[in-house]
Amino acid sequence: MSEIRYDRLHDTHVIIAPERLHRPDRNIDVYDKKVVDENCPFCEGHESMTPPEIFASRKPESFANETGWQTRVVPNLYKAVQIEAAYQHHYGRFEHWEGFGAHEVIIDTPEHHISMTQWNESAVIEWLKTLRARVGDLRRDHRIAYISLFKNEGKQAGSTQSHSHTQLIGLPIIPKEERDGYQRSYEHYKHNANALLESVIIHEEEDTQRIVANHGDFTAYCPYASAYPFEVMISSKKALGQIDTLSDSTIEALAPLLLSTLKKLKGKLGCFDFNLLIATPPLQEGTVEHDLLVCVDEACRFAIRIMPRIYQHDGFEVGTGVIINPVSPELAAKLLRESNDV
Ligand SMILES: [Zn+2]
Repeated sequence: MSEIRYDRLHDTHVIIAPERLHRPDRNIDVYDKKVVDENCPFCEGHESMTPPEIFASRKPESFANETGWQTRVVPNLYKAVQIEAAYQHHYGRFEHWEGFGAHEVIIDTPEHHISMTQWNESAVIEWLKTLRARVGDLRRDHRIAYISLFKNEGKQAGSTQSHSHTQLIGLPIIPKEERDGYQRSYEHYKHNANALLESVIIHEEEDTQRIVANHGDFTAYCPYASAYPFEVMISSKKALGQIDTLSDSTIEALAPLLLSTLKKLKGKLGCFDFNLLIATPPLQEGTVEHDLLVCVDEACRFAIRIMPRIYQHDGFEVGTGVIINPVSPELAAKLLRESNDV
C-alpha cells in the first residue's frame, strides 16, 4: 500500500509507492580506474586548461596554478552569475538583479576520479576543509546573501564533466524554498527551544527503522518522507556549527561516515548518479528574519543530503512538487545497514 507522507523539514509531501518499483537499467559496477584523462581540464598537470585558481590546498613547495595540490577552486567557465557584475537591484514591472554572484568549481581531487566512492578518507577531509574555507571567505562579502553548495555526480544528476567536482553558487538573494525552510527552522526554535532538524533526528532515532549508521556526533538515516529512492541525510543532534565553522575534529568524525554511506549506496545500487547538497543557512540579512542569523547555530543543524537519481521525474512531479518514491525509506535503510562498503 502506498502512503502520502509529510516532510516536516521541507514542508512538502511525498508519495511512497512501492507498487511502482521497477528495476532501472543497471549501471556498471566498477568505475574506470584512470588516474589522468588527457583531455580533462581538472586533472593534475592540466592547470593551464582552467582559469587561474581562486584557492587551492597545496603541498608547501608547490606554486599556484601548477601541480602539487589536493583540491583546487577555479571560477566556473560557464557561470550562471559573476562577481564582476554590478550589485544592483532594479525594481519595477520587470524587476531584476544584475547577474551578480559567485560561481566557483571545486576540483575535488587531482586524480581523474569520476565518483566520490573512489575517494579515500583524507580526500573527503580535504574537500570539507576546502568548502569551509570558500564559504568562510565569501561570508565576508556582504553582497552575498546565500550560498548553494552542491555536487552533481553522473549524467542523471545533471553533471557534464566527469572528473569529481563540486559547485558553489553565491547569490545576492535568498531562494524562496530556502528562505521558507530556514524561517520554519527559526519558528520551531522560538517555540520549542531546539532545532527542527534536531527534533527530526531524535524522532528518527526513537523509531530506529530508518537509521543507517552513527559515527561520532553524526547520524546517517533515510528520512521518513524521502523524496528519492535511497535518499540519505547525515546530520547531528548537536550544534556543531555550519560548513564554514566546523572544527577539524568534527570534519574528521564526519568524513568516514560520509564515505562509508556512499560506499554502502554503491554496494546496493552499483555505480549510481546522485546529487549531494550541503545545507548552508543564509549569510546576510536579506529578507530573512534578522533573529535567525543571530541564533543560526542553535536553530539550524549542519546537514548533508544525498539524493540518488535513479528515476526521472514526470509531469505530475514537476507540476505539483509532490514526488513519487517507489522505495520505502525503511527498506532502503535496512538494505544499507546490511550493505558492505565497497
Ligand atoms: Zn580529470
